[in-house]
Amino acid sequence: MALYVQKFGGTSVGSIERIKAVAEKVKGYRAEGHDVVVVVSAMSGETNRLIALAHEINEDPTPREMDMLVSTGEQVTIALLSMTLNTIGCPAVSYTGPQVSITTDSSHTKARIKQIDDQKIRNDLKEGRVVVVAGFQGADENGNITTLGRGGSDTTGVALAAALKADECQIFTDVDGVYTTDPRVCSKAKRLETITVEEMLELASLGSKVLQIRSVEFAGKYNVPLRVLSSFDDQGPGTLIVAEETNEMEDPLISGIAFTANEAKLTVLNAPDVPGVASKILGPIGAANIEVDMIVQNVAPDGKTTDFTFTVSRGDYKKAQAVLEGVVAELGAGEISGDNAIAKVSLVGVGMRSHAGVASKMFQVLSDEGINIRMVSTSEIKISVVIDEKFMELAVRALHTAFGLDKEEE
Ligand code: ADP
Ligand code: ASP
Ligand code: MG
Repeated sequence: MALYVQKFGGTSVGSIERIKAVAEKVKGYRAEGHDVVVVVSAMSGETNRLIALAHEINEDPTPREMDMLVSTGEQVTIALLSMTLNTIGCPAVSYTGPQVSITTDSSHTKARIKQIDDQKIRNDLKEGRVVVVAGFQGADENGNITTLGRGGSDTTGVALAAALKADECQIFTDVDGVYTTDPRVCSKAKRLETITVEEMLELASLGSKVLQIRSVEFAGKYNVPLRVLSSFDDQGPGTLIVAEETNEMEDPLISGIAFTANEAKLTVLNAPDVPGVASKILGPIGAANIEVDMIVQNVAPDGKTTDFTFTVSRGDYKKAQAVLEGVVAELGAGEISGDNAIAKVSLVGVGMRSHAGVASKMFQVLSDEGINIRMVSTSEIKISVVIDEKFMELAVRALHTAFGLDKEEE
């Protein structure tokens, strides 16, 4: 008999019908004799609805109150699912994050889990109950409710699985596994049987929202067996996230393509090219709590001035522009230019390590499609390009085909 932590995302609990289907699935595992801890998200659309309400009041609401608000979505689903389970003869009890002592730091809206006290859950399991825990939330040491960042229920699931030493953490979602790229954008995307933690971390951090990045970090750190599978159909093994690929010889060059339109870029034109200029520009950006992603600096032919470009997430674009106005005045730099209709497309694969020429092939494919590359960044196992947002889906599909990722025609 196994202990499973099963996480169901927003679409999977998006209606009473869906909640009933989840309850039947959980009951099925119980009938086989397994212990089950369920983690649920808010019903699909609910978290966005709550955020929109807050924004009607203030564009930049207090993070503490934001957490108080958005954590309510998950409280609704734990109660509804537990009621359903009890109704169909499967004893269950629901708990909020703080009720099972999910303790986080105090970084509201992006808190990190520090500790979980699993005793209460273990007691309920021993008594034969299914334990239903609210994803995405916890409390800091002072009892303030915190949330773990968008998509954070995945992390609750994996963290609970680690604390309980579960046999597997199963992430049930609206696709039947991790694909070579988002199957909603590329119909030729293929489901992967396995993917390494390292690759999944890259894909998640570069925009594939199928797993929240921190959940993958947790799984890697605590060796939690992690599987992504469909909550809609009963068939299929999904995708297992593995520590290492067993047969390195067969590592494909590219495992997946991630993309995100959640980007914006800013350039400080004609800044004086003197030591310290980069930190004078980025210091105030960091101080304003804005995360910078890519950075490119071009020196003018006269060697006296430099154009300094960096990207931030689109939500921070206006704030970053305002910060730069002050910086430019102080630096005596020329002007600021910006573009928030950009996207980042990334190739990820551990096989890249041992192969040269991936970048040049990528650039060739994009050029054949008439797509201009605005910025590039690379690491050992990924290459990212910034392009105009309108070309994003075209780029993903062209690269998917060119790198041999398309599934075979049925
Ligand atoms: P949930 O609500 O269950 O947490 P999410 O919407 O957060 O689900 O994540 C699942 C979605 O992730 C899929 O519907 C799919 O559109 C998207 N996705 C992006 N990249 C991938 C990928 N490489 N493989 C599978 N799904 C992906
Ligand atoms: N409900 C939260 C969100 O929409 C957390 C989650 O779904 O994982 O981001
Ligand atoms: Mg999600």
